[in-house]
Amino acid sequence: MAPPPFIIVAIDGGAASGKSSSARILADRFNLLHVDTGSFYRHITYELLRRGVPPADLPALGAALADLRFDTRLNGRSAQMLIGGQPAGSEIRGQDVNGQVSHYAAIPEVRHTLLGYQRGQAEVARRHGFRGVVMEGRDIGSVIFPQADFRFFLHA
Ligand code: C5P
Repeated sequence: MAPPPFIIVAIDGGAASGKSSSARILADRFNLLHVDTGSFYRHITYELLRRGVPPADLPALGAALADLRFDTRLNGRSAQMLIGGQPAGSEIRGQDVNGQVSHYAAIPEVRHTLLGYQRGQAEVARRHGFRGVVMEGRDIGSVIFPQADFRFFLHA
């Protein structure tokens, strides 16, 4: 019998609309890799703040982005982004990152840097025997995986 098809599920929605909880439930129920792209933007923001690179300094930003090395490790069914081998700490949910993440996320170079990394999570999922990916974030169904098999937008 042919193996079940690899599936990609995109989840978008407002803040605190239940994206992460829903994604985790789907990941458990259908053996999917859970990918929270907001945590990626938060981690990269934390790292750029730590390096003292302001969003307005595009040359410094470009150099810093080129210098970042990204890897993924699994935390249960969730993909955890490593930058320079380091996982994100609780600081990525703190005030500094909360206040800055949308500024960094608005910069095309930052989005471009994360684009390939996010798409690469499908390969991570395949390699680890997942049946697919459930990825949350605002541009998943439109930019990252326009061919997603299922797209949800949560209102709460
Ligand atoms: O979902 P969360 O609040 O953790 O996302 C943090 C921020 O990262 C969002 O407010 C948004 O500015 C940015 N983001 C984004 N694109 C995504 C995911 C998050 O621009 N796919």
